[in-house]
Amino acid sequence: MLFDFQLSTPAEGLVDITSEVCEAVSESGVNEGICVVYCPHTTAAVTVNENADPDVKTDFIMGMEKTFPDLSTFRHSEGNSDAHLKSSAVGASITLIVTAGRPLLGTWQGVYFCEFDGPRTRKFYVKVMGG
Ligand code: ZN
Repeated sequence: MLFDFQLSTPAEGLVDITSEVCEAVSESGVNEGICVVYCPHTTAAVTVNENADPDVKTDFIMGMEKTFPDLSTFRHSEGNSDAHLKSSAVGASITLIVTAGRPLLGTWQGVYFCEFDGPRTRKFYVKVMGG
Protein backbone atom coordinates (compact mmCIF):
# COMPACT_ATOMS: atom_id res chain seq x y z
CA MET A 1 0.00 0.00 0.00
CA LEU A 2 1.12 3.53 -0.80
CA PHE A 3 0.45 6.44 1.53
CA ASP A 4 1.20 10.09 0.87
CA PHE A 5 1.60 12.88 3.38
CA GLN A 6 1.94 16.64 3.15
CA LEU A 7 3.86 18.90 5.50
CA SER A 8 4.84 22.53 5.89
CA THR A 9 8.54 22.94 6.53
CA PRO A 10 10.72 25.59 8.17
CA ALA A 11 13.46 27.41 6.20
CA GLU A 12 15.91 24.66 7.05
CA GLY A 13 15.46 21.90 9.56
CA LEU A 14 14.45 18.38 10.45
CA VAL A 15 10.77 17.55 10.87
CA ASP A 16 9.95 14.41 12.87
CA ILE A 17 7.69 12.21 10.72
CA THR A 18 7.96 9.05 12.86
CA SER A 19 4.29 9.10 13.87
CA GLU A 20 3.14 9.42 10.22
CA VAL A 21 5.34 6.46 9.22
CA CYS A 22 4.00 4.37 12.13
CA GLU A 23 0.46 5.35 11.18
CA ALA A 24 0.99 4.21 7.56
CA VAL A 25 2.41 0.87 8.67
CA SER A 26 -0.47 0.38 11.08
CA GLU A 27 -3.09 1.28 8.45
CA SER A 28 -1.50 -1.04 5.88
CA GLY A 29 -2.19 -4.02 8.10
CA VAL A 30 1.27 -5.39 7.25
CA ASN A 31 2.72 -7.34 10.16
CA GLU A 32 6.06 -8.52 8.73
CA GLY A 33 7.76 -6.80 5.81
CA ILE A 34 9.48 -3.60 4.81
CA CYS A 35 8.55 0.03 4.55
CA VAL A 36 10.10 2.61 2.24
CA VAL A 37 9.87 6.32 3.05
CA TYR A 38 10.45 8.42 -0.08
CA CYS A 39 11.01 12.15 -0.57
CA PRO A 40 10.08 13.35 -4.09
CA HIS A 41 12.04 16.63 -3.89
CA THR A 42 15.54 17.67 -5.00
CA THR A 43 16.32 20.04 -2.11
CA ALA A 44 14.98 17.89 0.74
CA ALA A 45 15.68 14.37 2.01
CA VAL A 46 14.71 11.73 4.55
CA THR A 47 16.85 10.13 7.24
CA VAL A 48 16.85 8.26 10.54
CA ASN A 49 18.51 9.97 13.48
CA GLU A 50 18.30 10.68 17.21
CA ASN A 51 14.92 11.87 18.50
CA ALA A 52 15.84 12.35 22.15
CA ASP A 53 17.93 15.55 22.32
CA PRO A 54 16.46 18.31 20.09
CA ASP A 55 19.95 19.88 19.83
CA VAL A 56 20.87 17.04 17.45
CA LYS A 57 18.52 18.52 14.83
CA THR A 58 20.14 21.95 15.18
CA ASP A 59 23.66 20.51 15.06
CA PHE A 60 22.72 18.39 12.03
CA ILE A 61 21.74 21.49 10.03
CA MET A 62 24.80 23.41 11.30
CA GLY A 63 27.09 20.53 10.26
CA MET A 64 25.48 20.31 6.82
CA GLU A 65 26.01 24.05 6.32
CA LYS A 66 29.71 23.65 7.14
CA THR A 67 30.04 20.59 4.93
CA PHE A 68 28.11 22.04 1.99
CA PRO A 69 28.60 25.84 2.04
CA ASP A 70 26.72 28.06 -0.42
CA LEU A 71 29.68 28.82 -2.73
CA SER A 72 29.69 32.03 -4.75
CA THR A 73 31.12 30.04 -7.67
CA PHE A 74 28.00 27.83 -8.01
CA ARG A 75 26.37 28.34 -11.44
CA HIS A 76 22.80 27.03 -10.87
CA SER A 77 20.53 30.06 -11.46
CA GLU A 78 18.03 29.15 -8.73
CA GLY A 79 20.78 29.85 -6.17
CA ASN A 80 20.19 26.75 -4.08
CA SER A 81 22.99 24.39 -5.15
CA ASP A 82 23.98 23.84 -1.53
CA ALA A 83 20.47 22.46 -0.89
CA HIS A 84 20.74 20.16 -3.93
CA LEU A 85 24.04 18.78 -2.59
CA LYS A 86 22.61 18.20 0.88
CA SER A 87 19.58 16.45 -0.62
CA SER A 88 21.70 13.94 -2.52
CA ALA A 89 24.14 13.42 0.35
CA VAL A 90 21.37 12.54 2.82
CA GLY A 91 19.26 10.68 0.27
CA ALA A 92 15.75 10.54 -1.15
CA SER A 93 14.63 7.39 0.64
CA ILE A 94 15.09 5.09 3.60
CA THR A 95 14.04 1.48 4.11
CA LEU A 96 12.78 0.26 7.48
CA ILE A 97 12.11 -3.28 8.66
CA VAL A 98 8.50 -3.85 9.67
CA THR A 99 7.99 -6.40 12.42
CA ALA A 100 5.08 -7.03 14.77
CA GLY A 101 3.11 -4.43 12.80
CA ARG A 102 5.55 -1.59 13.52
CA PRO A 103 8.66 -0.08 11.92
CA LEU A 104 11.75 -1.42 13.69
CA LEU A 105 13.53 1.59 15.20
CA GLY A 106 16.11 1.82 17.95
CA THR A 107 15.23 3.45 21.27
CA TRP A 108 16.74 6.79 20.26
CA GLN A 109 15.81 6.71 16.58
CA GLY A 110 13.19 8.75 14.77
CA VAL A 111 12.40 9.30 11.10
CA TYR A 112 13.04 12.81 9.81
CA PHE A 113 12.06 14.83 6.78
CA CYS A 114 15.05 17.10 6.11
CA GLU A 115 14.28 20.51 4.64
CA PHE A 116 17.24 22.30 3.06
CA ASP A 117 15.42 24.98 1.03
CA GLY A 118 12.22 26.02 2.77
CA PRO A 119 9.87 27.13 3.98
CA ARG A 120 7.78 25.08 1.57
CA THR A 121 4.83 22.75 1.34
CA ARG A 122 6.34 19.33 0.82
CA LYS A 123 5.20 15.75 0.55
CA PHE A 124 6.58 12.31 1.20
CA TYR A 125 5.45 8.79 0.45
CA VAL A 126 5.39 5.65 2.56
CA LYS A 127 5.19 2.32 0.77
CA VAL A 128 4.53 -0.71 2.97
CA MET A 129 5.12 -4.24 1.62
CA GLY A 130 4.72 -7.60 3.28
CA GLY A 131 2.07 -9.69 4.88
ZN1 ZN B 1 17.61 24.45 -7.65
